[in-house]
Amino acid sequence: MGGLHGNEPAGVYALERVLAALESRSSALTGEFVALAGNRAALAKKCRFVDRDLNRAWTDERLARLRAEDSLGLESEDHEQLELLSTLDQVVTDARGTVYVLDLHTTSGLGGTFSTFGDSLPNRGFAEHIPVPMVFGLEELVEGALLAFLGEHGLVAIAVESGQHDEALSVDRAEAAIWIAIRSAGLLAPADVPEAGVGQAFLRAETAGLPHAVEMRFRYDVDPDTQFAMKPGYKNFLSVKQGETIASDRHGDIVVSEDSRLLMPLY
Ligand SMILES: [Zn+2]
Repeated sequence: MGGLHGNEPAGVYALERVLAALESRSSALTGEFVALAGNRAALAKKCRFVDRDLNRAWTDERLARLRAEDSLGLESEDHEQLELLSTLDQVVTDARGTVYVLDLHTTSGLGGTFSTFGDSLPNRGFAEHIPVPMVFGLEELVEGALLAFLGEHGLVAIAVESGQHDEALSVDRAEAAIWIAIRSAGLLAPADVPEAGVGQAFLRAETAGLPHAVEMRFRYDVDPDTQFAMKPGYKNFLSVKQGETIASDRHGDIVVSEDSRLLMPLY
């Protein structure tokens, strides 16, 4: 899945490339490869969302209500969510084995190539093949994220952040992750998917020097009404020191609480 956030089209472009390349290999596929564009209305408008973040409100209660309501007059993302939900339902119904989900995203700052997922052995096993830093604890903090919902329903689901929103390399990194996922999900025999090995070498080079895994220790929620301003020069995984001022808002300076690495500086 790409473009769950409409300002993050890299995943969709990467999926288009992979779909085109898979065409001549379709007879070798031992399962289904399903490519989804998440928030299509927002992708068309090149914005994160139209009415609300589509990567929220993935809870059984909320979805039951959404299914029951008349769709007339609903918010744009309600339509998107219902469409995605029925497609995912169909995928799960048709599946003859484990369903693996790769949720492709990008970030506003540079250097943000990493995976994040609910910490279970199947998720970790799937993520381990993609040689980018693993970020633990991030997924749990996003209330109602699609990934958590899929995990609760028995799918193996990880998110891959492939770089800055508009960077051409973000498409290449996402594409590499998809090929690796195709091989590790067993959709194609290793000999039929040489792109996976190439992709691993590429991602290893792209993330050289970055930690294998990090744990979320502190998070600052940015309220759009508080004049949040990041100090210049920060990028993902940059080492920061305890006491360092990295941003400010109406409430004052935002100071790092312990020696650590910074993730997702907001510009
Ligand atoms: Zn996103």
